[in-house]
Amino acid sequence: MSDHHCAVCDIYFTEAHSLKSHNKTKTHLKRLAAVEEEDEWEDEEDDDDMGTEGEDGEDDEEDE
Ligand SMILES: [Zn+2]
Repeated sequence: MSDHHCAVCDIYFTEAHSLKSHNKTKTHLKRLAAVEEEDEWEDEEDDDDMGTEGEDGEDDEEDE
């Protein structure tokens, strides 16, 4: 764990400031936004799993 890793882009940096400046690049911010969107989707899936009481889940599938 001595390297500085950007988990979003899966890139390793040897210097902390390299990672810091990388965090401000458009490439990183774009990926970060995409990952955050994916996270929201995962959350929705989790909710769907837990809400098996209601069977309105079919509507969600049509939405895709
Ligand atoms: Zn990054």
